[in-house]
Amino acid sequence: MMLPSPEDLAICSLGECRFPSPLQLGAASGEYHGDFMSDAAKVRFHVELENLDTRPDDLFFERAGPRERLFFDPATVRAAIVTCGGLCPGINNVIRSVFLTLKYNYGVPEVYGIRYGYRGLNPAHGDGFIPMTHELVENIHLHGGTFLGSSRGPQPVEVMLDTLTARRIDMLFCVGGDGTQRGADALSQAARARGLPMAVVGIPKTIDNDIPYVFRSFGYGTAVEKAREVIAGAHAEAKGAPNGIVIVKLMGRNAGFIAAGATTASQEVNFAFIPELPFDLDPPNGFLAHLEKRVRDRGHAVVVVAEGAGQHLFGNLPVERDASGNIKHHDIGVYLRDRVIAYFRDRQIEANVKYIDPSYLIRSVPANCDDAQLSDRFARYAVHAAMAGKTDLLIGYWHGLFVHVPMRLVTSHKKQLSPKSSLWLSVLAATGQPALMVNPPTSDAGPA
Ligand code: ATP
Ligand code: MG
Repeated sequence: MMLPSPEDLAICSLGECRFPSPLQLGAASGEYHGDFMSDAAKVRFHVELENLDTRPDDLFFERAGPRERLFFDPATVRAAIVTCGGLCPGINNVIRSVFLTLKYNYGVPEVYGIRYGYRGLNPAHGDGFIPMTHELVENIHLHGGTFLGSSRGPQPVEVMLDTLTARRIDMLFCVGGDGTQRGADALSQAARARGLPMAVVGIPKTIDNDIPYVFRSFGYGTAVEKAREVIAGAHAEAKGAPNGIVIVKLMGRNAGFIAAGATTASQEVNFAFIPELPFDLDPPNGFLAHLEKRVRDRGHAVVVVAEGAGQHLFGNLPVERDASGNIKHHDIGVYLRDRVIAYFRDRQIEANVKYIDPSYLIRSVPANCDDAQLSDRFARYAVHAAMAGKTDLLIGYWHGLFVHVPMRLVTSHKKQLSPKSSLWLSVLAATGQPALMVNPPTSDAGPA
């Protein structure tokens, strides 16, 4: 990843902030309720100061928070919120908190929910606007999923912008992953090209925790918690049969944070595989012989595999893509299961192999306590940013502080789990698996 320049971290503004904030904060509040945040408040890009030559100290994110003066007159604002991509615990909490902040803290009169992602902004799919009310959102945070619905697949940016302008929408909140933020970036650019004062603010939704500059995204902790429950079940199953082997496939298309987090939380996993680290199956160094040894020594084994792991094992099999153009990974869980079954069968070693894929059950549950708090905070910071006329940005979470991150920076790359990180070293320590299960390049470790 290229180091950004100070200009890359600059936040785009719609113009002068002429309206006083209605929030009762700072000295004016009478009773002290905390301060407004100035645009001069920054958060260091680098906190480790080992080497200033490679880690310059002039890189800062703008700090998120309520501004004393606003670009928009809250009494006239029309806002909208859209949720796109896959489900993730906490989306409903975000929708609810965005609405409540707009309505009760800023006194915004009109807030709309967009049905089924960006699709709801294309009239070809019908009217996607729902006027939001307190009654509508009252209890949504108690449920998983997204009450507005979501979708994948592209919509023409100019058409979406036409819809937003026809509805006189001043600010759009886009809850979603990298694809959603690319769409938000495109919308924001198109609005500025037309000279429209529309704020587009992104809220990072990634159950995989793979959005850069977001130390922890909402939903990730819940996913790890649920995954740990699944692993506990897998462990019981594995121990409950002679030479029991249970393989659990967890989410993680490009990053192994869920697999690593659940492994260290559970301490019952014996092998964990993530997209960041290739591995082989066959001798001399591959996984299967290590698995055999583990089963011979201990009588059971639990294996966790992230969905994006081991894709190189499929060789040149053609890849499919989803409606949004994302690569649909080959099913590494089923492949591993079949290879494990074949390995033990060929050697006439008894093995009771089971396979669990809990993905849809994990991503659709309500947010746990931590994620409910996190969703609420992302949502409220997003509203503060939009009211101050900031646009083309995502709410980041950097060194424990909420910051404004230019959208372009977020979509330029994905966050991955470094095999040198303490998290991965903890996985190796907790599983006892070999650090590398890769054969020399000359060996034939191609697809079965
Ligand atoms: P996740 O992958 O975590 O489920 P995501 O936001 O990455 O979430 P996608 O389905 O990839 O999910 O994208 C969400 C929406 O954003 C889709 O409707 C997709 O077509 C749209 N989108 C993606 N890239 C762009 C782009 N460059 N311009 C306009 N729209 C885009
Ligand atoms: Mg994505």
